[in-house]
Amino acid sequence: MSSDLVIVYHRQPYEEVEENGMTVFRENKSPNGIVPTLKGFFGSVNRGAWVAWKLAKDPEDPDFEPRIEIKDAYCTYSVSRLPLSAEQVREFYHVTSKEAFWPILHAFKERYNYDPVDWANFQSVNRRFAEAAASEAAEGALVWVHDYNLWLVPGYLRELRPDVRIAFFHHTPFPSADMFNVLPWRKDIVQSLLACDDIGFHIPRYAANFVSVARSLFDVDVTERTRVPDKWISEGTALTERVLLSQIRYDGHDVAISVTPVGVDVSFIEDRARSAEAQSMAGVIREEIGDAKLVLSVVRTDYTKGGIEQLASFERVLDANPQLRGKVRLMHVSVSANRDMAAYEEVQNDIEQIAGRINGRFGTLDWQPVTLISRAIPFAELVSYYLAADVAWITPLADGMNLVCKEYAASRVDGDGALVLSEFAGSAVELGDAIIANPFSNRSMDRAILSALDMPEVERRRRMTGLRRAVLETDVRNWHPGSLNVGRQQKDASAA
Ligand code: UDP
Repeated sequence: MSSDLVIVYHRQPYEEVEENGMTVFRENKSPNGIVPTLKGFFGSVNRGAWVAWKLAKDPEDPDFEPRIEIKDAYCTYSVSRLPLSAEQVREFYHVTSKEAFWPILHAFKERYNYDPVDWANFQSVNRRFAEAAASEAAEGALVWVHDYNLWLVPGYLRELRPDVRIAFFHHTPFPSADMFNVLPWRKDIVQSLLACDDIGFHIPRYAANFVSVARSLFDVDVTERTRVPDKWISEGTALTERVLLSQIRYDGHDVAISVTPVGVDVSFIEDRARSAEAQSMAGVIREEIGDAKLVLSVVRTDYTKGGIEQLASFERVLDANPQLRGKVRLMHVSVSANRDMAAYEEVQNDIEQIAGRINGRFGTLDWQPVTLISRAIPFAELVSYYLAADVAWITPLADGMNLVCKEYAASRVDGDGALVLSEFAGSAVELGDAIIANPFSNRSMDRAILSALDMPEVERRRRMTGLRRAVLETDVRNWHPGSLNVGRQQKDASAA
């Protein structure tokens, strides 16, 4: 096969559903998010390929279709699907990736679970991804690998295909050496990453952490450093870095270290926010809220997202400020993506308990302080909540980027609205105009939400102008695989 661009991402790029006994491939419901962005890159190459896994009852089943062709609004591309059994998925994804890697990436050492990891299975799944990518890639193609659950792919791929260009993007934080080196497989992982031509991160801090990890394990030289642009040096935020180590050399091979923060599709969100439907729904929400202030918090249920700490802050604030009772409502959307994992169930239970306690302590017949929503709200609807919310309250304990805060700013075509943002979200580096909070400090958390509720309109608008400008600067339509061009050649206009 001969694709100029091979995207290696663990999920398939569409939703596969059964309709009247037939398999139908549907565009992902949400036009937002990383999958449509990645598919957009196929528009600039002659031929694209995607490699993902697919659950198979019996991975040896001869009827399993390992490779299909998809024709959609983006272009025609192939999808290689690696058949994995439920046990392989559990092991590769839920155990190794989510129980061992995820806590370390987000600096939660105490949640790290080493014992159940089957490293041989992780290696073998990654090797299969690399083999599939190797067989799809044209001579000199770009293979773009995404996220930590595919950490070993670059190393295997480099052995199979020395000619291809390999880029790797981390969608999560990357921790310091003190934290990362807890992983006993650290050398395997970093050696694989050093086989890339470009390793990408959201912010300079994660890039610096990676370089320090690599230098703790191997003889790696820093061959290029640049100053971090002023717009990313917002004084006082925990993740600010001043120097970017932008190229390293290992074993005679140069590796570019790129910082390309993921953003949102600003014009798509703005169009939605301006639509009559979104405006009218926002009006209905505002009417329901009356003269109270609406505080909106939207997260995936995860201990990294700080939902419990945020609710605790809301409880303290209501306790200490009786004048706010009846005057403010918190809509806390906490959507569970991994229902079957004990750690997430525990967080969900704690969130329900504390929200119930707040409502029990302070609620009245006509005022419920917390509305807890555990189902996913369709994006089109979410925009109306963004429009109606006086404050977006986004305070993760650790978060690679956080797109909800960027979506909030992109939605506020009216130029109003206050954003309280944790300084431990990657986005805080770009969004210095937010009201920055430290979720590890009760005083900082309580003060930030109080100041957002109290902020004069002029100040809110001044900050929102800055937020919207920053969000536009990293519009996802301009996102790219670091120092590497997507097409080996410009798309040949005569090609199909
Ligand atoms: N989201 C949504 N409906 C919900 C909750 C979240 O569509 O009810 C979307 C939200 O719009 C955002 C994404 O889920 O695009 C969450 O991305 P983020 O980067 O904030 O967090 P992640 O879950 O990727 O860590």
